[in-house]
Amino acid sequence: MPQRLRILFISPEVEPFAKTGGLADVAGALPKALAGLGHDVRVLMPKFRGVERHAGSLTPVIARLRIPVADRTQEGALLEGRMGKGPIYFLAQDHYYDRDGLYGTPEGDYWDNCERFVFFCRAAVEALRVLGWTPHVIHANDWQTGLVPVYLETLYRNDPALAKIATLFTIHNLAYQGVFWHYDMPMTGLGWDLFTPAGIEFYGKINFLKGGLVFGDLLTTVSRTYAREIQTAEFGCGLEGVLQERSRVLHGVVNGIDYDVWNPASDPAIPKGYTARDLQGKRACKLALQEELGLAQEPVPLVGLVTRLVEQKGLNLVLDALPELLANGAQLVLLGTGDPALEAAFDQAASRRKGRVAVRLGYDPALARRIYAGSDFFLMPSRYEPCGLGQLISLRYGTIPLVRWTGGLADTVTEFDPAKQTGTGFGFAPFNGEALLECLHRALTVFRQPALWARLVRNAMAEDFSWEASARQYVSLYRKALKAAVPSTRIEP
Ligand code: ADP
Repeated sequence: MPQRLRILFISPEVEPFAKTGGLADVAGALPKALAGLGHDVRVLMPKFRGVERHAGSLTPVIARLRIPVADRTQEGALLEGRMGKGPIYFLAQDHYYDRDGLYGTPEGDYWDNCERFVFFCRAAVEALRVLGWTPHVIHANDWQTGLVPVYLETLYRNDPALAKIATLFTIHNLAYQGVFWHYDMPMTGLGWDLFTPAGIEFYGKINFLKGGLVFGDLLTTVSRTYAREIQTAEFGCGLEGVLQERSRVLHGVVNGIDYDVWNPASDPAIPKGYTARDLQGKRACKLALQEELGLAQEPVPLVGLVTRLVEQKGLNLVLDALPELLANGAQLVLLGTGDPALEAAFDQAASRRKGRVAVRLGYDPALARRIYAGSDFFLMPSRYEPCGLGQLISLRYGTIPLVRWTGGLADTVTEFDPAKQTGTGFGFAPFNGEALLECLHRALTVFRQPALWARLVRNAMAEDFSWEASARQYVSLYRKALKAAVPSTRIEP
C-alpha cells in the first residue's frame, strides 16, 4: 500500500470556479486538506464559463480528446490550472459547458444535461488512458459523476491502465439524482443489459446517481445520521432499497469548513473581529447588523438565517413560529433566495414587522458573514439536511445553532445542558412550529442568563469542524477501497 496516494477528485462544481451549493465548498476545501496530509490530489471539473477568472492561465494537457457520445464522436480538451498549490483539470467542451448556468436557467434544466454529463463522465475515464498519471483512487461526487464508476466497471474493465483504480462515490444530496428518459440510453454507450433494476434503471428511466451507488467500490455521504436516514423510505428518495443493499460499504463522513476562510478574528467582511476570549467585537457586529438592516438596536435575541429558500430547509416552520418568536422579544433576519412563494411570504413578513424582521432576498456572501457574526442564534429547521454548513460556520462565529435533529445537524450540534454546562446549541425533532417554539423557549431561557450564555458561546467556539479530521477519515476509506477488503455487490454486466 503506497504511503502517498494519488487521488483524482471529480466534481461538477468547485469553489471558487463554479458553485450552486455546498458540494462546491467541499470540493474547494477537501482536496487541499488531503494534499496537506501529503497526498497527490488532482481535481477535475467541467470548464464552465468564467473559470479562468479564478484559475489563472490554463495549460492544455490533452489537446484533443475524442469521446463517443451516442453514434457520434465529440471532441474535447483537458486543460490544467491551479487550485491553491495543486493542479486542477478542466474538461473543455464549449458547446456543453460555455453557458450562463451550470445545469440550467431559472426556467429549468438544460434539455441536454444527460448528454453533457455522459460526456463529462466518459471523458474523465478516457483522459486517464492518455494523461500519463493514474490515480489509485477516484473520488466521484453526486449524480453528475455517477457514470464514472459504471464505465470503469463495464466498458473499460479490461483496460490494464485503469483496472486497479478504486472508486469512492459521495452523495451530497440524495434528492438530486440525474434522471433521464430511457431513449437516452444509447447515448451512454452502455448496453441495455445495464438498464435493469440491478443496474442504472430506475422506474423506467436512467438514473446517474444510482450508477454511482451500484458500481462505486465504497460509498459515503456527508454525515452518519444522513447515511442511516437515506436507507429509509422517508429519506431514501426511492433509492433506499439500493442503499440498504450496499449498507456495508456506505459510510458517513461529516463535512468540515475552512477555518482560515471562516474566522471571526480575521474576517474582512465583518465590522469588528473577535475571539472566544474577547467577545467585544461580536457585540459590535450585532449593533452594526441591526443598524444595517433597520432593526431596533436593542439587546434582544437576534435570530439569523442564511439559506436557499427551498422546501428542504423547513422555512414554513419559521413562518408558523414567527408571531410567537416576535412576541418573545426576538428579532429575525433572513438572507436567502429561491422559491418565489417563500420569497414573497418573507418579504411580506418583513414589511409588516419593520424594525423586528429584516429580509434580504438575494445571494450575498458578505452580508451572510455579517449575519453569522452579528446574530445570537442561527436557525436551521431543515426537513432533511445531509450535512449542513451553516451550523458549522455559526459555531465558529459563536452564534448558537437552533436546529432540527436530522442528518448532519444531529451529528454536529449537541443540546446545551444548563446543569452540566455542556453542549453547543438547541434542537427539536418533530417537524412542526410548536416544536421549534419549544426549542426557542429553552434557548431564550439560557440567553437571559449572562453567565450561562457566555459558557454556551465558549462551548460553541471551542468545537473543531476544520477539514483535517474528515480528510483523515477519507484517506482511511480510500485505503479500504484500494485493499478491496469490501466484498462487492456489483452486478456482472
Ligand atoms: P445547501 O448546500 O443545502 O444550500 P449548506 O448549509 O450545506 O446548505 O450550505 C449553504 C452554504 O451557502 C452556506 O455556506 C451558506 O452560508 C451559503 N448561502 C446560502 N444562501 C446564501 C445566500 N443567499 N447568500 C450567501 N450565502 C448563502
